[in-house]
Amino acid sequence: MSSGAVAVPRVVGLGSTAVVESKAGVRDAVRSARREGKTIALVPTMGYLHEGHLSLLDQAREAADWVVLSIFVNPLQFGPAEDLGRYPRDLERDLAMASAREVDLVFTPGVGEMYATGGAEVTVAPGRLADRMCGASRPGHFEGVLTVVAKLFGIVQPDVAIFGQKDYQQATLIRRMVEDLDLPVEVKVAPIVREEDGLAMSSRNVYLTPEERVPALTLSKGLARCRALFEAGETDAEVLRESLRRTLLSAGVEPEYTDVVDGGSLEPVERAVSGVVCVVAARVGRTRLIDNTILP
Ligand code: AMP
Repeated sequence: MSSGAVAVPRVVGLGSTAVVESKAGVRDAVRSARREGKTIALVPTMGYLHEGHLSLLDQAREAADWVVLSIFVNPLQFGPAEDLGRYPRDLERDLAMASAREVDLVFTPGVGEMYATGGAEVTVAPGRLADRMCGASRPGHFEGVLTVVAKLFGIVQPDVAIFGQKDYQQATLIRRMVEDLDLPVEVKVAPIVREEDGLAMSSRNVYLTPEERVPALTLSKGLARCRALFEAGETDAEVLRESLRRTLLSAGVEPEYTDVVDGGSLEPVERAVSGVVCVVAARVGRTRLIDNTILP
């Protein structure tokens, strides 16, 4: 086993999963896999895994021979008033799930390992794509995200990395970072996995009380209504925005934003056409929820 491993390869069922805390340990393990001619896929997460994360792992398995899952709650992407301290964590459960999915390596660095120099003095500036939507409500968030993703790309050096459409703005920014910085990684984006009732899966859903489930569902319901309106011929983006907004307000949910934006530039559009994205964010109780849908 390579240096930095905190466990001998864990064996569950047919699969064996190595768990590594150090960057050096990851580099060793990746080097061995490369020597065997394997291609590498990376799935970056903050853990507390759910079916959405698992779908990314499945896509990673299809895209490459050797799958790395990273679990790191990145302080750099949380604002001072945000939920860093209470972000849900259950490493043991995550490792069991990763192992059942036959992940080859789980990278679980501590903050000190990830930011070994004491912080990130040099960071990745997201530019204008971060000006609106989540970037506007969470100043510094995307700089933190891009910085940690760039670091993970540097540590793992994957051929392909998988992200979720659930975080549409994030995925768009990561694609743009890879283009603008000429990073040698192929970025794939996987569809949103939902609960049976339509709620987009999120680690933060665990914060929701049973009573909050009903207002929380207005996000996915409002988006479904936008899609239905569009499919019935409505192309005025303002009508879709207003419909989305009203769906949330009808259940007493004050939207943080509702918008209908171009899928590439994230700029608001006047006309809804195929590929345009309806986006929404709102706080339900103490839980911040986001969701989106790409118009068919
Ligand atoms: P997180 O652990 O929340 O940072 O998410 C890690 C990755 O999983 C990101 O690329 C997310 O976009 C993706 N993800 C989160 N929720 C879902 C979901 N419901 N469906 C698909 N992907 C998701």
